[in-house]
Amino acid sequence: MTKRNALNLVLILILAGGAFAQTAAPSAPIDFSKKTLQSERTQSYDAVRYLIKLHVDMDQKAFGGETTVTLISLREGLATCVLDAEEFKVTSVWSDYGDPLAFTQSATELAVTLAKPAKLGEAVTFTCAYAGRDPKVGLNFVDASADNPKLVFSDSFPDKVHHWFPCYDYPNDKVTYDLVVTVKAGNKVGANGRLVGVAEDKAAGTVTWHWSQDLPHSTYLIFFAAGPYVVVRDSYKTLPVNYWVYPQDEKKALPTYGKTPKMIEFFNKTFGFDYPWQKYDQISVPSGGGAESTSATAMTQRIMVDAADEPEFPAIGIVSHELAHQWWGDLITLRSWAHTWLNESFGTYSDYLYQRFDLGEDEGAVNLAGKQAGYMREAKTRYIRPIVSDRYDKPGDMFDSHSYPKGALVLHMLRSIVGEEPFFKILSVFLHRFAFQPAETSDFIRTVKDVTGRNLDWFFDQWLFKPGHPVFDIGCQWDAKRKVVLLMVAQVQDYARGIPVFRVPVAIKVVTAKGAATTQVWLKEKMEKLEFPAETKPLLVRFDEGNLLIKEVNFPKDLDELLYQLKSDDVIGRIGGAGELLKFKDDPRTAPALAASAKGDAFWAIRKAALESLAKLGGPAAVAAFKPACKDANSAVRLAAVLALGDLKDRGLVEFYKQLFNKDTSPRVRSEALRALGKTGDPSVVPFLRQASSVPSRQNMVKRAAESAIKQLEAK
Ligand SMILES: [Zn+2]
Repeated sequence: MTKRNALNLVLILILAGGAFAQTAAPSAPIDFSKKTLQSERTQSYDAVRYLIKLHVDMDQKAFGGETTVTLISLREGLATCVLDAEEFKVTSVWSDYGDPLAFTQSATELAVTLAKPAKLGEAVTFTCAYAGRDPKVGLNFVDASADNPKLVFSDSFPDKVHHWFPCYDYPNDKVTYDLVVTVKAGNKVGANGRLVGVAEDKAAGTVTWHWSQDLPHSTYLIFFAAGPYVVVRDSYKTLPVNYWVYPQDEKKALPTYGKTPKMIEFFNKTFGFDYPWQKYDQISVPSGGGAESTSATAMTQRIMVDAADEPEFPAIGIVSHELAHQWWGDLITLRSWAHTWLNESFGTYSDYLYQRFDLGEDEGAVNLAGKQAGYMREAKTRYIRPIVSDRYDKPGDMFDSHSYPKGALVLHMLRSIVGEEPFFKILSVFLHRFAFQPAETSDFIRTVKDVTGRNLDWFFDQWLFKPGHPVFDIGCQWDAKRKVVLLMVAQVQDYARGIPVFRVPVAIKVVTAKGAATTQVWLKEKMEKLEFPAETKPLLVRFDEGNLLIKEVNFPKDLDELLYQLKSDDVIGRIGGAGELLKFKDDPRTAPALAASAKGDAFWAIRKAALESLAKLGGPAAVAAFKPACKDANSAVRLAAVLALGDLKDRGLVEFYKQLFNKDTSPRVRSEALRALGKTGDPSVVPFLRQASSVPSRQNMVKRAAESAIKQLEAK
């Protein structure tokens, strides 16, 4: 997978609150066990430091310069040093005494014959001169357009940094480096580390920016971008926090990024390790997502949002995710791509932790449910694989919904098993132990053992080293004589695919008219019979109270219980109740109950879920709920309502949609009102749509909706 794809994945996961937004056509199931068996790269030397002096001609899309490499031999008698080098031509190599060194260059490597074989532990320094032009990957030259100024930016992830300078390009080695970049005057160069200085050469019309990354990190985290950036300055205590944006986005910098200092404070406390780098920059680039280059995150320009639109299009998901990588990925880095979860699951769990902190428990629950849905979609339509796997054809294979949401949910379960304080202590100890080093999964498991004294090998074995998740079939009965609830719990996952029988703690809540009682039980067999006291017939039996497990559940409930659940359960239970009620489509109580939730539930996600069920239900009672919901305080609810109304294709609603477009403040709702006009099939609305298409909106969403509605009407 290219960076762009991986980044798109990040963006989709983040912006969709963890769930895939795409409705990808179901592709053939993939068998991960047939992918290439990979192993961590063996090193004959330890790369220590690079000095990269680069001239970049943004007009000619050309680059070249000198890279000085310092390394320590890990062999007795290292005669040849092989570096990764691709898409540029090395013209000469010389030793630190200035003597020319023999070298050969293949399509992917540069082999330098050292002046004399290096001893074990001996430091060696040499310099390579080279030049290249517009490489296919690794360095992007971008022409000016309506969306962006002329830019150049590196694109090093996951192993493409060697397309713009010769180096050891694998994450199991950490280096420091200096980057001295010369570009045309009028541009700024952002990069990792500390700014040493900026020097202008008036005669040559160039400017040179010198950056120093003097804390070690892996090469794929090396980054620079050059362009006419505006730098909006912010800070957290004495730490500089800067937002590098295109000139046209200056006013959007604070609405988009303004919570960054608060996030740094939150993560410092949560991780028990203060932000480790000299500054934090977020730098706009045109590509698809975010890339967490050390202290200089490359961030897609598409997240830029003005103050008016920010509540509806917040960037905090992606901003907190990439920031969390400054610890998870940059400070501690996966040793090989088999351990991608050490970067991505921790990053994804962190973005949940921040959103839970910032927005509250209910939003947090919805965020986690979105992550679970994202994983389930991949598991059900594409493949299951162990989260830690040395089977992959390319690193990008690992950047999927197993490494992102599933691993995040595994951390959430671990937290519930070891407890709050031990969990966050594990994170802190792990960071302190492996700071500025590469790490692998066994390092984390060992840390869990050391901090808690608990052997949780069984937990990691089933969740990290085996594929899949438990699928529970649950039967429930109330025994009036014995006054107990009988619960039959079967694990019915497909064992033929290598999915284990899971050992999991699960909380069962039994609610009766007399009150609620929650009991934690451990499931570990294919079939278990459980009993819980219940004086009267339960109003609700809740499996997995707290929603901690990665699971599928088939737990049939009668209408009374679902109606109770829709009104009285937690957020996730109420959403589930709204969906399950569709099994009782024809019962006269169903539509009014959903309509009552759509109107009156205190939390928007339930109002939205109820509307979506009503849309599937149809009928006058359902339809009557849509119009009032178009006035809901929450735009996601209004959007669901106007979508449902639009599907009625009712010409009688033309005036209603026009009013909605004119009065609503949400660009999403306004756009959907225009699409609804198109769906009415009424040609008289075309002039209104034409006028609407000139209304400015975020990323032209209103214009695009108006045009698609016109197209739909003209196709008739
Ligand atoms: Zn990430």
